[in-house]
Formats: sequence, structure tokens, C-alpha cells
Amino acid sequence: MSEKLTELFGTDVFNEATMIERLPKKTYAALKKTIENGEDLDPNVAEVVANAMKDWAIERGATHYTHWFQPLTGITAEKHDSFISPTPDGKIIMEFSGKELIKGEPDASSFPSGGLRATFEARGYTAWDCTSPAFLREDAAGVTLCIPTAFCSYTGEALDLKTPLLRSMETLSTQAVRVLKLFGHNEVKRVTPSVGPEQEYFLVDKAKYLKRDDLIFTGRTLFGAMPPKGQELDDHYFGSIKERVASFMKELNIELWKMGVTAKTQHNEVAPAQHELAPIYATANIATDHNQLVMECMKKVANRHNLACLLHEKPFAGVNGSGKHDNWSMVTDTGKNLLEPGKTPHDNVQFLLILAVMLKAVDIHADLLRVSAANPGNDHRLGANEAPPAIVSVFLGAQLEDVITQLIETGEAKSSKDGGKMNVGVHSIPEFKKDATDRNRTSPFAFTGNKFEFRMVASSMSIGTANTVLNTIVADVLSEVADELEKADDFNVAVHDLIKKTLTEHQRIVFNGNGYAEAWVEEAERRGLPNIKSMVEAVPALVTEKSIKMFEKHKVFSSVELHSRAEILYEAYAKAINIEAKTMISMATVKYIPAVISYTKKLADSINAVKSAVADADVSVQTGLLKEVSTLLAKAQSAIKKLQDVTAEAASISEIAEQSKFFKDSVVPAMTELRTPIDALEILVEKDLWPVPTYGDLLFEV
Ligand code: ADP
Ligand code: MG
Repeated sequence: MSEKLTELFGTDVFNEATMIERLPKKTYAALKKTIENGEDLDPNVAEVVANAMKDWAIERGATHYTHWFQPLTGITAEKHDSFISPTPDGKIIMEFSGKELIKGEPDASSFPSGGLRATFEARGYTAWDCTSPAFLREDAAGVTLCIPTAFCSYTGEALDLKTPLLRSMETLSTQAVRVLKLFGHNEVKRVTPSVGPEQEYFLVDKAKYLKRDDLIFTGRTLFGAMPPKGQELDDHYFGSIKERVASFMKELNIELWKMGVTAKTQHNEVAPAQHELAPIYATANIATDHNQLVMECMKKVANRHNLACLLHEKPFAGVNGSGKHDNWSMVTDTGKNLLEPGKTPHDNVQFLLILAVMLKAVDIHADLLRVSAANPGNDHRLGANEAPPAIVSVFLGAQLEDVITQLIETGEAKSSKDGGKMNVGVHSIPEFKKDATDRNRTSPFAFTGNKFEFRMVASSMSIGTANTVLNTIVADVLSEVADELEKADDFNVAVHDLIKKTLTEHQRIVFNGNGYAEAWVEEAERRGLPNIKSMVEAVPALVTEKSIKMFEKHKVFSSVELHSRAEILYEAYAKAINIEAKTMISMATVKYIPAVISYTKKLADSINAVKSAVADADVSVQTGLLKEVSTLLAKAQSAIKKLQDVTAEAASISEIAEQSKFFKDSVVPAMTELRTPIDALEILVEKDLWPVPTYGDLLFEV
């Protein structure tokens, strides 16, 4: 396998090696200029590339091509066209033109646009993104050539996640190159954000999954009592992987490797039935595309193994949910990582400046990072002591915190703490060098050696928005720094002063302690850090004056685009909760209540039967149970009624921000009110009568 693997990897990608092999030298050179330097693409080049791509794809069995894009639904979209073109003799030839490669025309009005597109203004375009390689995807439909594309409206507004991401990468590069010039690095032409997203997910048995409407319609369980065992034994995390899951992972890896996704790490996660996959990092754009592929592939391969893959942030109450850790750094085209502190960070002025920039960016724009991780599912996790708190802060670790303290207190940093050596006290185990810093699992934004790890991102969400925000806020502070330092008479003095000033002003964002502790919530409030508890409260951050000014300055989002995105988020929230509420009403009405009624009848029958057999027999158990169950049954019924009323009221609110707030404040509590008696009934009612698989069945029986 390992020998074959080097050959297998990337076989379904129109990658560098394939292009070199298949494109005329001139065409390849021209395309490369576009990919690497962002130069305009010549239509003649596109024509030649399209032809080579088509030949390559057809040789591998492809019959169709698709522009593959990421509209604001959060999932990828595609429309397949075959390569066929009729000839006068009644036959066909296979064709694919440069125009078809460059541009597609899906109906824009059928995707979320936040008011940007009225239903009758349908035109939208997909445009080839040559910086992310085309690939082949094989499934029941056959082999399809997938072309990563950006998606925008007829009027030019971005309607997807890729366009702003690409724009943010450009501005980050421009501003970082300016700053590096000041340090004499004239050789650097480009700086690219590198991203490695760690993906968490659950696997459950498909037959059981199909018996749960809540999982099917909403991706999470809306009812369910805790089984006797949860995650308290810590026996699943890094535990040995069960056969069925292992065979899923094996096939998933092969599928991903073929498509050029560098799937690297896999392990069991904290919750039962929870797992993680991490690839090796890539440029932000490719990493974002690949993460979409990872999620799609997980679902598809799970299905083949009679499993269902749950990507929801909180599929089960009472055990940990899933997130996505977005590892992020900046790398120059000369191969230098700008977040690499070296052995002695205290005398690495360039690193200290970049670090100060990061702290300032995260401090000023904490609200934007928060909204970039906001979705209905993440409302269950952030701040619930299983994921980072909803308060954004930065973990630097002992070494950097010490350097910063020296700088702030004395104006100069003279030393860097060393991690020292690790000695486990067993002679046969070799000594090794420890990292300079321990880890902190509770931090939303942690420095981990040579990268930052943004840990708030939601498991089911694209990482596009999080990285767009991250790139732009860093670019914005870099541009301020460059403005100031380019004017300085004495660069060394100016940079020193600027580092000290920036660190002093934004020190409040640094927090190395326990982010789960209540004390931190109070401390953060004293520091003036925002604690944005829900998605609905997070959305306004997109359209503040500060946000609009910054995104417009860097040409990442226009004000119109930001407003439309805010509206889409509100809509997404309102729709998600509405579906959850309706699913609960339906499940309770047609599944749980009838099951409980059957049980009460069984109890009543038993009481009558026992009494008629033995007149003075003790039926207190049946009677007690019957009373308890009937009381809960009545509670459930009135909770259904209440949930129906409050959902109807929500529907009558036309203003979207107000409506989503109502869903959060009134519908969500009414959902809890219905869940409580049903979950209580689940542990009273005879198991054989319970109409759906329980948490125990779902979490422990794969
Ligand atoms: P952990 O979170 O346990 O440290 P890893 O060290 O395996 O896990 O890293 C997690 C992810 O971070 C991987 O996807 C890895 O490729 C990515 N990563 C490593 N170095 C960088 C970097 N310089 N920039 C961005 N991502 C990185
Ligand atoms: Mg991690």
C-alpha cells in the first residue's frame, strides 16, 4: 500500500505535474503567472488549458464537468454538463472550450443572496479559480471533472465564500510584503496564509440514523436521555479504533488522497462515536476547498459503510460536540513562516512586530472573529465548557508572555525562557527537548509554536469566512504598521516604540489561564472584552462602521455585501430553529405521545387484570408509574401546544433580525420545555415501546 500510495496520491487532480506533462511550455508559463502573481488570464491560454483538461479527464472516464462553488448555503453546489457536442452525421464528439472553463451561469436567484438578487433578477456567474486545482470526482454518477469557481451576481457582488477569501488573501499579501520590505526583505513578492483545519465528526449506524427524524432533518438529536455511560471514563479519546470505523477511515483516506487532499491524522475524539481528521496544511484557498471535499467525502463514504456521518456542532446533548480548529500562519514565497519565533524570540524584532500585529487585530476585531464562527449549532458549544468560551482571547504561553512582559515593563526584552529537557526517569527512554510552551485547550485563539489555532470554528461550517476575517484583520493592522513605519526617520527606534506601544495597548487580549472558569468571564468583563453569547447577537458585528470601513478599505466586502451577509445569517438562524421546532412537534405528536399512550394502556390493563385476578393484590407499582407517566404525558402535550403557538408567532414577524431574536428568546426555550418531559419519559417507558433509537443505541453501537 505505501508504495502504491505515492503513485495514488493526486491521481485525480489536474495538478502541477499533470500540467507540466500536458500543457505546451508557453501555456504553462502563462498560467503559472496567473496562479502565482495574480496576472490576468489570456483567453487563448484558457482555451488550451480547457482542451488539455478535457483530454486528461476523459482518459480517466469523465463524461461530465461541473463548476464547483460555495454559495452562501454553506455547502458546495454544482451543476453537471456533459462534454458531448453533436456532429452533422448524427454522432457526437467530446468538447470543452476555454469559455466553458472560465465562466458558468447558474441561476443566482435560487441561492441565498440576502436581498441582493430578486427572484426575477436571476443571472449569476461562476468564474474559474485557477489557484485551486481542478479534480475528478467519482461516484454513482460516474466521473466528473470539478472546476473550483467563484460565484458572483450579474452586478458583480460576491455570492459565495471563495470570492472574499481570495480578495482577503490578496490584501494580506500586499500589506505583509510592505512590512517585510521595511526589514530589508525585498526578495519577498508574495505572502500567503497557510491553513490546516482539523475536522471533528460523529459516526452512527445508518439504520438507526434513519429512524430519527431529528437527525435526518436537523443534523442533531432534539430529544434523548443520557445513557448510563457518557464520556466520563475518558476511554474513547485516542482509544483504539473499532473495525467498522477503521474501514471507513481507510476508504476515506484513499478517496481523499486521490483528490490530492493530504489527509494525515486520524483518531477517536472525546465523545463516544466522535472522531477527527486533520490534513497537512495548504494555502487558505486550497485548504478551504479541501475541507469542503473532506466533509462531502465523509458523508459519502460513511453511507457506503452503512454509517451516517454527523457534522453538526452538537449532535448529542450531554457529551462533547464537534468543532473545527483552524490552524493559521503566514508564509512568504521564499518559504519563511512569519509566525516562526526562532529559538530566541526576544531578539527577533520582525517576529515581535508580527505578534503585536496579531494581538491588535484580534483585540480590535474580536467581534468579527466571533461572528465568523457563528452558526446555530455552535450556540450550543461556545461557552459551554467543552469548546472555547464565547469570549475571544489569545493564548501565548509562558515563553512569549514573558517576552511581552519584559518589553512592556522595561522597554526591552533580554531573554527567552527555554522549554528545557524532558526526562521521564527511565534510562531506556531517551531525553528530548520540550516545547517552550505548554498547551491550553480552553483558548479560542492559541499560539502553538509557529501558528495560531483559531478554535471557535463550527464543525459543519466552511472555513472560508473565518479565514477571510483573519486575513483581513491582520492585513488591516499590517497596513497601519506599514503606513507608520514607512514614514519613520529611524526605523529601528520606530519599530521598537511601535511594538511596545501596540503590546501595551492590546495586552488585555492575552489570557493564559483557564477559559472555562467563571472567574474568566468576570475578568474578561473587567478588561472590556466582548462576550457574545449567541449567533443572533454576533451578527451585528458584520455591519458596524468599523467593519464596513475595514472591509471596504481592503476591497474584501462592500457595504452592500456585508449587509446581505448579515441578513443571510439571520435567515439561516431563523430557518434552522423553525425546522428544529417543527421536527420536535412532529416527532412528539406522531411518535412519542402515541408510544407513551400505548404504555399507559398497558399499565392500566395490567392494573385491571391483576385486580380481577386477585382482588386485593398490590398494584401500587403500576398505579404509581401510571400516574407519573400520565403527568409527564400531559406536560408534553401542553408543551407541544405552546411550541406550536410560539412558532406561529415567530412566523408572523416580518423583520428578519427581530424574527431571529424571537426564535432565540422564545422558540428555543419552548423547545427545551418539550424536550424535558419526553426525555423523562424515555427512562420510564418500556424500551421495546420507545419509538426511536436512544442515545445508548446511537453512541455505543457502531
Ligand atoms: P495539534 O493541534 O495537535 O498541534 P498538529 O500539530 O497535527 O495538531 O496540527 C494541526 C494542523 O495544523 C494540521 O493540519 C497541520 O498541518 C497544521 N499546521 C501545522 N503547521 C502549520 C502552519 N505553519 N500553518 C498552518 N497550519 C499548520
Ligand atoms: Mg489542534
